[in-house]
Amino acid sequence: MRFVLAIICCKLIRLALRVLGRGGTALPGKVALRICPDMLSRLARGVRVAVVTGTNGKTTTCRMLEKMLRDAGMDCFANRSGSNLERGITADFVSNANIFGRPKRRLAVIECDEAAFRRVCGELSPRVCVVTNVFRDQLDRYGEVTHTLGAIREGLDRAAHATVCLNADCSLTASLAADAPDRVRFFGVDTALGAAPAVSDAPRCIVCGAQYEYDYHTFAHLGGFRCPKCGYSRTEPDVAVISVSALNPDGSAAVLRIDGEVYDAAVGLPGGYNLYNAAAAIAAATALGVPAGDAVRSLARLESGFGRMERFEIGPSRITMVLVKNPAGCDRAIDYLRSIPGDCTAVFCLNDNLADGTDVSWIWDAGFERLFEGEGGGRLSLIVSGERADDMRLRLKYAGAAEDSVRVVRSESELVEAVTTAGGQVCILPTYTAMLPLRAALAAKCGRKEFWK
Ligand SMILES: [Zn+2]
Repeated sequence: MRFVLAIICCKLIRLALRVLGRGGTALPGKVALRICPDMLSRLARGVRVAVVTGTNGKTTTCRMLEKMLRDAGMDCFANRSGSNLERGITADFVSNANIFGRPKRRLAVIECDEAAFRRVCGELSPRVCVVTNVFRDQLDRYGEVTHTLGAIREGLDRAAHATVCLNADCSLTASLAADAPDRVRFFGVDTALGAAPAVSDAPRCIVCGAQYEYDYHTFAHLGGFRCPKCGYSRTEPDVAVISVSALNPDGSAAVLRIDGEVYDAAVGLPGGYNLYNAAAAIAAATALGVPAGDAVRSLARLESGFGRMERFEIGPSRITMVLVKNPAGCDRAIDYLRSIPGDCTAVFCLNDNLADGTDVSWIWDAGFERLFEGEGGGRLSLIVSGERADDMRLRLKYAGAAEDSVRVVRSESELVEAVTTAGGQVCILPTYTAMLPLRAALAAKCGRKEFWK
């Protein structure tokens, strides 16, 4: 009875919020869990679930996996509103159920915050778990990366029947295999991808503390690592990107090896880091029964996930928005900025609210200097905005921007005006709470729906 009551309350509150134009809040799930604390596990009965966690790439990996499953004729639902804590996930399971809790679709792709992963795995009994990578992220919330890793490990312990897909190139993530050796699928990139500066998330061996040696680097601490002292090293992945023939602003072309078979792949999203997301999604999709060749074909037909890499064409401006939240993710966005040929307006919007991480010192760990190497700086028009615009301006100055070349825009309406009239390529790098209003304003200008609709 409490179960049905909780479902009805959740559905009604969600409907009411939507009528009021306020989607994407935690309230419906929160109320439902208060009424019936075990409702998520009850709603998940009879649903095959893939859970995706990790620091970077969760959302994009989920969108890729969803696409692969749908293209293969496997009807699934997902938590697309960006709420990846237990409450939000509960509300999405309620939406998928009738008022008696019977699921409409029996396959789910769930993005889950690292801190919520342990609980959510206990409730959902997932069939597949994906850990994209582990980076330094929002230290003020989670403490050290090893703490995050411990939380993920406990989640995997609770997902005893899951195939576990792990990033072979991330020495932190790959160490999780020790707890589940017979049910791991590794994914990774066998070749160097551009030169990102070293970010010291994991310079030392997680087993013995010695300094790693690398055959090659892909991003930050990802790559062909090995410990010279104890022998802990990268495992050859089951799903590997073996070579990359093109990295363009529209996407990339690569050769993949999946369980010993070789495939040519076109990935319809830009940035070398999306090759990792693609490999992760293939590892999960094939574990759920999608033929490898079909999964590869789906990669060519992708559209960007909410905010992570989204495009808008407004007036003369071709706008790309890339969410940034930590040094490693920001370095990838900088790689993308560098890949844009010709003149470009680069906009950095830095806020310091709770959802952004209140400590903005991470901007000093990201390699903004690379924007100004060689001729790079001359083609960029620079705008900074957000509550911490002045910190961002200072950072760009130290990175090599000329004193008077950085425009500070304080008001949101002025910023929208600036990016829509700039013309040509415009790349916006906002933190989370800076992204939400800006995205809403841009989406409204090109008649796009709000994300929760
Ligand atoms: Zn070692």
